[in-house]
Amino acid sequence: MTTRIPHWIDGRETPGTSGRRSPVFNPATGAQTGDVDLASTEEVDAAVASATAAAREWRHASLSKRAAVLFALRELIHQRTDELAAIITAEHGKVLADAAGEIARGLENVEFAAGVPQLLKGGYSEQAASGVDVYNIRQPLGVVAGITPFNFPAMVPLWMCANAIACGNAFILKPSEKDPSAALFLAQLWKEAGLPDGVFSVVQGDKEAVDAILEHPGIAAVSFVGSTPIARYIYETGTAHGKRVQALGGAKNHALVLPDADVDMAADAVVSAAYGAAGERCMALSVAVAVGEIGDVLVDAIAARLPKLVIGDGAATGTDMGPLITREHRDKVKGYIDAGADAGATVVVDGRETDVPSDGFFLGTTLLDNVAKDMTVYTDEIFGPVLSVVRVDTYEEGLELINSNPYANGTAIFTRDGGVARQFQFDVEVGMVGINVPIPVPVAYYSFGGWKDSLFGDTHMYGPEGVNFYTRGKVVTSRWPDPATSSVDLGFPRTR
Ligand code: NAD
Repeated sequence: MTTRIPHWIDGRETPGTSGRRSPVFNPATGAQTGDVDLASTEEVDAAVASATAAAREWRHASLSKRAAVLFALRELIHQRTDELAAIITAEHGKVLADAAGEIARGLENVEFAAGVPQLLKGGYSEQAASGVDVYNIRQPLGVVAGITPFNFPAMVPLWMCANAIACGNAFILKPSEKDPSAALFLAQLWKEAGLPDGVFSVVQGDKEAVDAILEHPGIAAVSFVGSTPIARYIYETGTAHGKRVQALGGAKNHALVLPDADVDMAADAVVSAAYGAAGERCMALSVAVAVGEIGDVLVDAIAARLPKLVIGDGAATGTDMGPLITREHRDKVKGYIDAGADAGATVVVDGRETDVPSDGFFLGTTLLDNVAKDMTVYTDEIFGPVLSVVRVDTYEEGLELINSNPYANGTAIFTRDGGVARQFQFDVEVGMVGINVPIPVPVAYYSFGGWKDSLFGDTHMYGPEGVNFYTRGKVVTSRWPDPATSSVDLGFPRTR
């Protein structure tokens, strides 16, 4: 018995009419649990028509009304975190604590957006010329869309929709077809929070729905998060159709561990950042660059921690790591381990041999040492529980390795030396940097984004840059007749 997972258009669940569907699995059992509708171009048109009508009204909603909806949404997400976490775990596989963690990080964006009266304040210059005042305002774009990946089915949509809606736009979400139910739950909460119908819609689908969004003249802007090849495609196609596009891509995040680092601190951090959520995080650390003599102790410290990780159903108490998203993806990750071993990497811990539940899409944790720059385990984004250790002799060599990688999402340095850490922050060509912090995802009042192949477009996501992305600036230059020279009788003395 599988559940049918529909769209959400005009404030209600809307069954698909295309006749196309995609199976949804519980990755922990391997069983199919749902069938998600895949939208046709006509269904995307219907969502845009509803959103266009809603956007026309919503831009008139006062700032305090918008803030009130966001405050209400915040309360609802708080109250119903456990339900939403269970939905995420059932389709994604991550452990419940991780699911609750992504909700908490998403919620930060709702809290930030609740400050919309402050965020949209403009500037005012009185007497720019004699009798002339100049001021600026920011206005919504109209209908905007978000296309999101499977790995954060609640947080990434909240990165986008909280600011987009607070700024007065209508938002259409096209979630991943692999775990589509969290989007519907969010839609329900927006409605309960008092958001008018049509301001938040969900169009389920695959490439056909994405292309319909990219080509639709009624959509002004597209935010995307996903893999690099698709991010590039979204950016090129969306901008060719005259849209604003921000497209965040994949990652290969390096940890640079210096000889003076606190080994236990670095090993704990690297283990949680490499294997948490089975490595399916865009900010996962997938390469540890060990400088000099710390290499052996670091590898030993990481290897000693891995057998303690409990791998199993993310919904079960005490589990540290769940399964991968699909059987195909699990097999692809295994293939990378095979290729790394064949190419001469040392397999220190072999996840292929770990005793994991046979149902479901599980794979144990893998630690590869002596990884070289030309091995596919190094060059490709694996997106699984595999950590590669690259040995280098000096800080400069490690820095050069990181800076020559085409991905540049996040990185972290582990050291006790403040001067070196500061130098690294200056030198490294990566968008988000951690200093003894393994996953430096910015808080919601900064903005999130990588460099190079990890981001197409020039605007980072959420925070102040998100507000800019979802609004257009307008500058007003005004001159009013001087009351002292007016011929109209104002009924009071004209004095200055
Ligand atoms: P993906 O690129 O396969 O899919 C992302 C979205 O694009 C989904 O909604 C999907 O339906 C759609 N899509 C897939 N193929 C498409 C195609 N050919 N044409 C049009 N649309 C298509 O990514 P994923 O596997 O869902 O997510 C994992 C990837 O996302 C990883 O590469 C990860 O690094 C990246 N990611 C990046 C960030 C970041 O902030 N930079 C955050 C999370 C995930």
